[in-house]
Amino acid sequence: MEFKYYLGTKVFFGKDCIFNNRDEFSDFGKRAFIVTGKTSGKKSGALDDVLKVLNQLGISSFIFDRVENNPTLENVEEGGNEAAKFKADFVIGIGGGSPLDAAKAIAVLAVNRMDPRELYTNRFDKKPLPILAVPTTAGTGSEVTPYSVLTNNDAQTKMSFGNNDTFPAVAFLDPRYTLSMSRDTTVNTAIDALSHAIEGYLNKRSMPVSDLIAEQALKIFGECMDSLVKEDFNYDIREKLLYASMLAGMVIAQTGTTLMHGMGYSLTYFKDLPHGKANGLLMREYLKFNYENAGEKIDNILKLLNAESIDELGNILDKLLCQSISLSKEEIDFYASQTMKQKSTYNNLRNVTREDVEVIYQRSVG
Ligand code: NAP
Ligand code: FE
Repeated sequence: MEFKYYLGTKVFFGKDCIFNNRDEFSDFGKRAFIVTGKTSGKKSGALDDVLKVLNQLGISSFIFDRVENNPTLENVEEGGNEAAKFKADFVIGIGGGSPLDAAKAIAVLAVNRMDPRELYTNRFDKKPLPILAVPTTAGTGSEVTPYSVLTNNDAQTKMSFGNNDTFPAVAFLDPRYTLSMSRDTTVNTAIDALSHAIEGYLNKRSMPVSDLIAEQALKIFGECMDSLVKEDFNYDIREKLLYASMLAGMVIAQTGTTLMHGMGYSLTYFKDLPHGKANGLLMREYLKFNYENAGEKIDNILKLLNAESIDELGNILDKLLCQSISLSKEEIDFYASQTMKQKSTYNNLRNVTREDVEVIYQRSVG
């Protein structure tokens, strides 16, 4: 057995965890640069709580609330310039994966004069500012991963960067902040978390410890599936979904993602599908494709999710997601070539060819 396991994030989980652990903020300095979306920080209540605590501790702050969904390099460049101007000591990301990922890039750009495209080299002269993360969706697990997924318009896709220094130093996970999510955001983000657990499990880089965490995430997700279908989102379910998404984040922090994410990015970039939905629409065919090489593991996934077969799981996903796009032959050709450029495609347990990708697109959204 041979593996590397590293998690650079201190996690606080539970109702009121920001108030109960307020001293954590004092360790990082006197000037906090808050990175959030247009509405998520406010609607979730997380921004108010953070501001209250900063105020009590005498920490001054600047709110950058211009993070777009699927943030672009231009968007984080703007944030980086503002953070440098403000002379921030640390960065606090509040929101879904978009603001959390943007916070990581801004923490790098605030202290390094560089073209944002150079983020993808993962080499920075100066260490990024410390990053604190407060998730308001239960999906990406970005609060416990080093990754920042950014839209690169030059490459017409989304690409991620990250190294040990871009793990959030501290993550505060309070399920209350996820209560305000709409039905669709709840479902889409939950399916993103599910895809992380599955792709971390069916991954060339998986290891016994990441498999253990993935299995636990899948079991908890299985307990939530009925509630997702019935749209019964009480606090206990929110808590479970946030916990499962954190676990799934811990898994991909070690393994990375695979083919489903590699293919999903084009559906988001060109068809504007939310990230989790893009993965979910591909999941049935992705699992069928991998069954040849990972039958035992896929049977275990189905067991943990209480599904009889890949098709039963696929039917539940169809009910949750509503198929809303259909791709032309030309689109499938181009998206397949984009998929083959994604690093994550090569972590897939079964080796992937461009023709395989075309078939999966065709059967899923053709
Ligand atoms: P998101 O893009 O952050 O947010 C989706 C929508 O939900 C936005 O309109 C947002 O509002 C809203 N929202 C968020 N929290 C809310 C709340 N509590 N109440 C009401 N509305 C809320 O969605 P996401 O799925 O969490 O993140 C997706 C991004 O993360 C993608 O760019 C994806 O590639 C990336 N990702 C990163 C990782 C990683 O490891 N770093 C892993 C997977 C995916 P606002 O517009 O106001 O923010
Ligand atoms: Fe994801």
